[in-house]
Amino acid sequence: MAKYSVYVFCDDCGDVHPMRISIELKDGPADKASIGDTYAGKELPPQIAQLLNNITYCPKSSKPILQRNNDQIFLVPYVGATQMIIVQGTVRIGLGNATDNFQKGTVEATVANLLSVSKIVHGTLNVEIQEKYAMLDDGVYDLELHASDYNGREWVKIKRCKVNDFPCAIVRPADHFVVSKFKQRIEIMSSVRLCDHFGLSNGSTVIVQFQGNDLWWNG
Ligand SMILES: [Zn+2]
Repeated sequence: MAKYSVYVFCDDCGDVHPMRISIELKDGPADKASIGDTYAGKELPPQIAQLLNNITYCPKSSKPILQRNNDQIFLVPYVGATQMIIVQGTVRIGLGNATDNFQKGTVEATVANLLSVSKIVHGTLNVEIQEKYAMLDDGVYDLELHASDYNGREWVKIKRCKVNDFPCAIVRPADHFVVSKFKQRIEIMSSVRLCDHFGLSNGSTVIVQFQGNDLWWNG
C-alpha cells in the first residue's frame, strides 16, 4: 500500500486545490496522475469512490468544488511523514509573498508557541526548494490555523523545521499549495532574523531539515 494526497481542479478559479485528505492505494500511480488515467477501464477502488463524496472548498472563493470529472482529480504520492527530509534551499529575497500577512491574526503567536520562544520576528525568510518537498502533504503539518485566525480567507499550515540547524517554522497559507509561483517556495519564521543571523543574501544556500523526531528537534 502506498499513501497518496488528493488534489482537485477547481472549475471556479482554475487552480488545483488539495482535498486535504490522504488515502492508501495498492495500485496507485508512481507519479502524479489523474484518477481517470490511473483507473482507465477499471473499477475505482472503494477509498476513492468514498473520497469523492467529500466536499472540498476553493480557498479563494470558499465555494464548494463539485468536481465530477475523474480526469480533473489527481493522486500525488505522499512524501512520507516519518522520514526526515534534508534539502538544500536557495534564499530568495525581494519577491512578493505573504511576509506581511503573517502579522495578521494569531500566526506569530502560534509559531512562537510551537517553537517555545517568547517572540517571533516579523517577516519570513523565503527559500526555494524542490517542489515535491515544498508541497508536503497536508497531513504532515504540525498545526493548522483556520482562516479566522489569519486573514479571514485562507487557512495556514505550520510545520517545525531547522534552517542551518536553527529551529524555525515553515508557514504555508492555502494559496501557496496551489499558486504555481509559490509551489517551490517555503516561507520560514523564526525568533531571529535569519538573514542577519547567518549573513544570508539573495541566492545564498541554506540547509533545511524537517519532519525529524523529537530527538532531532531537541538536539
Ligand atoms: Zn478554486
